[in-house]
Amino acid sequence: MVREQSVPGRVEHLPMRPLWLCRRCGQPWPCGAAKVTLVADYRDSPVNLFLYLAGHLHEAIDDLHRLNPSLTGSAADMFDRFLGWPARRVHAYRIPRPGSAVGGGESQDCG
Ligand SMILES: [Zn+2]
Repeated sequence: MVREQSVPGRVEHLPMRPLWLCRRCGQPWPCGAAKVTLVADYRDSPVNLFLYLAGHLHEAIDDLHRLNPSLTGSAADMFDRFLGWPARRVHAYRIPRPGSAVGGGESQDCG
């Protein structure tokens, strides 16, 4: 039951606020490595991943807008940066259309 812990001297792919750049690779957070880690960490609870990212999105818009409104870009860009990508990776993100018959087995795991 030993989870990987942060090793001294090893910088993880976490956001550096208020710039919201990755502490390790300097890419806009969440960077590719951070996304891989997040998807793995939250694979059993994609809704929690969504909530986690939504909270960060709110804070990032606040921080970046305070620093320099032109850095923030459009709200759509920020939304896609934080919340758009899991929908393309996590199947459970797909929301069933209202009115369509859902015959069970809504969370099939294809491995
Ligand atoms: Zn990174």
